[in-house]
Amino acid sequence: MNKRTVFITGGASGIGFGIAEAMAKQGHHVIIADINEQAAQEAAAKLAQFDGSASAIAVDVCDAEQVAMLPEALGVLSVDVLINNAGIQHVAKLEDFPPQKWQQLINIMLVGPALLTQAFLPAMRAQNFGRIINVGSIHSVVASPYKSAYVAAKHGLLGFSKTVALETGDCDVTINTLCPAYVKTPLVEQQIAAQAKENNLTEEDVVNKIMLEPMPKKQFISVEELADTAAFLMSNSARNITGQTMILDGGWTAR
Ligand code: NAD
Repeated sequence: MNKRTVFITGGASGIGFGIAEAMAKQGHHVIIADINEQAAQEAAAKLAQFDGSASAIAVDVCDAEQVAMLPEALGVLSVDVLINNAGIQHVAKLEDFPPQKWQQLINIMLVGPALLTQAFLPAMRAQNFGRIINVGSIHSVVASPYKSAYVAAKHGLLGFSKTVALETGDCDVTINTLCPAYVKTPLVEQQIAAQAKENNLTEEDVVNKIMLEPMPKKQFISVEELADTAAFLMSNSARNITGQTMILDGGWTAR
C-alpha cells in the first residue's frame, strides 16, 4: 500500500488514537490534530516507535479560521486521508439539555467535519487522490433517548457525506462514514457513569442492559476493527465505495 499522510481529528485519545497507532504501524505519516495540544504531542511521541512517523497539531475543529489555515500550517505535507473523528457526548433529557451544549455537539461533530473537508478537498482534488473517513456512530442510523444533539449530529454526517460523494464523482476522492456501536474509550467510560445517574441504574447494568443489550453479539466494538475498516477504505480496491455508511454494530440494526 502507498504511504499516505493521514490527518486525524481527536487523534489524541480513544478511537482516534487507536486508528492513528494502526496507521503509523502500517508506515503512514500520521498528524494527530486535537484541541488538547499536550495530549496530541504525547500521542505523537508514543507513535515514534513505529514504522511511520507522526506529528501533532492543536486545532479546535469548530474554529473556522483555524481550520481554514491548516493546509498552510502543514506546509509541504499534503493530506491524503482525512479522518473526521473528534467528538463529545452529553446525555440529558431534551427539557434539561443546555442549549449551548446542544450547539457545541453539532459544531464539533457536524460543522467541524464540513470545515475540515472544505480545507483539504482542493488539494485532494488537485492530486487526484483523497480519502475522507468520518467517524459516525450507530447513532447515525438509530436513536437512543437523552442523546438528541449527538444523534442529530451523527445522522447529519451521513447526509453531508452523501452530498460530498456526489460532488467528488469526478476524481479519486471518496467519503464514507464508519458507524460503530459502543467502543470502550474515555468517552464511553464517562457515559456509563452519566447513564447510570440518568436511568437510576448501576454502571454494570448500564453496560449490560443499555449498551450491549441491543447487540446480538453482546460485545464492545474494538478500535482494531475500525482501524482495519479505515485501512480498507484507503485502498485502491475501495475507490468506488463512496457516500456509504459502514456499520459495525454486532447485528444491532439487523433487528
Ligand atoms: P474520546 O473522548 O476518547 O476522544 C475524543 C477526542 O476528541 C479527544 O482527544 C478530544 O480532546 C478531542 N476533541 C474534542 N473536542 C474537540 C474539538 N473541538 N476539536 C478537536 N478535537 C476535539 O472519544 P472516542 O470515544 O474516541 O470518540 C471518537 C469519535 O468516535 C467521536 O466522534 C464519537 O462520537 C465516535 N464514536 C464513539 C463511540 C464509542 O463507543 N466510544 C461509538 C461510536 C462513535
